[in-house]
Amino acid sequence: MTDRIFAAGAPSVVPAAVGDTVECDLAIVGAGVGGATLAWALRDSGARILVVEQGDFLPRERENWSPQAVHREGRYKNSAYWIDDGDGKEFQPGNYHYVGGSSKLFGATMPRFREFDFETVELADGTSPAWPIRYAELEPYYCRAEELYWVHGDGDDPTEPPRSAPFPFPAVPHDPAIAKVAKRLARQGLRPYALPQSLDWRAGGRCVLCGTCDSYACMVDAKGDADVCAMRPALESDNVKLMTNAAVARIATDGSAVTGLEVVRGGARVTVKAARYALAAGAVNSAALLLRSAPDGVANRSGQVGRNYMGHVTSFIIGSRPGRDLRIDYEKTLGLNEWYSATADNPYPLGNVQSLGKLYGETIKAARPWAPLGLLSAICRRSVDFLAQSEDLPLPENRVTVDAAGRIHLRWSPTGVAGHKELVSRTARALRRAGFPFVFTQSLGIVATSHQCGTARMGEDPADSVVDPTGRTHDLANLWITDSSVFPSCAAVNPALTIAALSLRAAERGGLV
Ligand SMILES: Cc1cc2nc3c(=O)[nH]c(=O)nc-3n(C[C@H](O)[C@H](O)[C@H](O)COP(=O)(O)OP(=O)(O)OC[C@H]3O[C@@H](n4cnc5c(N)ncnc54)[C@H](O)[C@@H]3O)c2cc1C
Repeated sequence: MTDRIFAAGAPSVVPAAVGDTVECDLAIVGAGVGGATLAWALRDSGARILVVEQGDFLPRERENWSPQAVHREGRYKNSAYWIDDGDGKEFQPGNYHYVGGSSKLFGATMPRFREFDFETVELADGTSPAWPIRYAELEPYYCRAEELYWVHGDGDDPTEPPRSAPFPFPAVPHDPAIAKVAKRLARQGLRPYALPQSLDWRAGGRCVLCGTCDSYACMVDAKGDADVCAMRPALESDNVKLMTNAAVARIATDGSAVTGLEVVRGGARVTVKAARYALAAGAVNSAALLLRSAPDGVANRSGQVGRNYMGHVTSFIIGSRPGRDLRIDYEKTLGLNEWYSATADNPYPLGNVQSLGKLYGETIKAARPWAPLGLLSAICRRSVDFLAQSEDLPLPENRVTVDAAGRIHLRWSPTGVAGHKELVSRTARALRRAGFPFVFTQSLGIVATSHQCGTARMGEDPADSVVDPTGRTHDLANLWITDSSVFPSCAAVNPALTIAALSLRAAERGGLV
């Protein structure tokens, strides 16, 4: 029986009981930044759009802002375990299945990639490839994505690319303690800048600049995530419907086009039939779904599906000092791109440094269970906390595969590790000189999958890429991919704004409706 989910007056979230077949014009897999932004962009196109999302809305509850619940109890972690092919051990990635995807928990730092990130860049361990589209092509979509996601900034980053419009909202002010750090870094000749943050810190906005933003869900919907900024506004259109708790198990094709999605919803199986399909399940899950769907993978004539996995090479850097508590709440406002490009002082780019959301004793206790919570909390009350991230190269052997049971395996040997260590050590030195004598660092490794990308790369040549420059797969005329799978390189800044800009561009230029 075919269900009429688009009938007049039908609810925007598809009820649990539907017929065994659902029909629409465009089916989107995944309600994260990639999928929700696409649905939002096409909401008034006249096409009947169904977003199929494995997760549900993240519950609004007091635990949203509890470091104990979030970090020690892992309350919102809901990904299946993946297998690290390096050591054969299972791990639960920081990959989230909710309406809004991982952006429900993200740190809301939404930078553009730098202009030269789209070009060939020489890194210490090899060449970072050029994209088939250049920065100028994406620039108008970056502007729209910044509007959509309430991005605040002031353009004082020395590596800021050219922009055709100013940031839509002024930079979020530094906490007084962070302002002091910025001054002390500047006195060393460094050029700290205001991180571009996507928050409802607009006039009359809901954001209270609390200390539980990065890695927490926002209880007052004040974080510019894909649920709040894109999916819910898209659902205001009668032409957009959302099916939650619905996992796409297989993409069926006739060899030249997708013929349907096989969806598991509770105990039931539903077939979704559409004229066109967009896959936006996140770089690892999109690749896994393509690989599970046919013996050699769907859209995989090139053999590149699942390959070229990139995560940033990342470390936490915590600078602490004795004395009074710093009383920092919202910490994530300070960036440092001093060593982002090659200079006389560093022949290869080293990466980006940005403040983290405030760390608490409970956050660190999850990784250091043997350390007394009281001691960790005392350190964190006197600390400023940073993330250092360096570019990783797309290597064919760094890849996602699925085994006979359908479980995801990840093989990843990071590149550029020596440069990353240099970045960490320069940052640590700067923090000591800024008055934080105790500097602790922790590299994050394979479990830090949050900036995953590259597993279905974009290119002109069907022999060595999966999608064309508009995001359409080379092999299947009615299948697009609109998440970070398509990134040919990962730059060294956060990916979400680039995912959103690519979705906006695909909506306008891709032929999806
Ligand atoms: C703690 C944390 C902090 C972060 N901080 C930042 C930051 O400050 N700035 C930044 O730019 N990025 C940040 N990121 C990364 C950012 O959140 C992601 O890059 C971005 O959200 C990815 O969006 P996506 O749509 O590509 O994928 P996802 O967010 O993974 O969305 C994919 C969606 O598809 C669904 N799905 C998967 N498989 C299926 C299936 N088979 N059937 C149906 N649905 C499926 C998933 O449930 C999910 O909702 C952070 C991530 C984390 C975890």
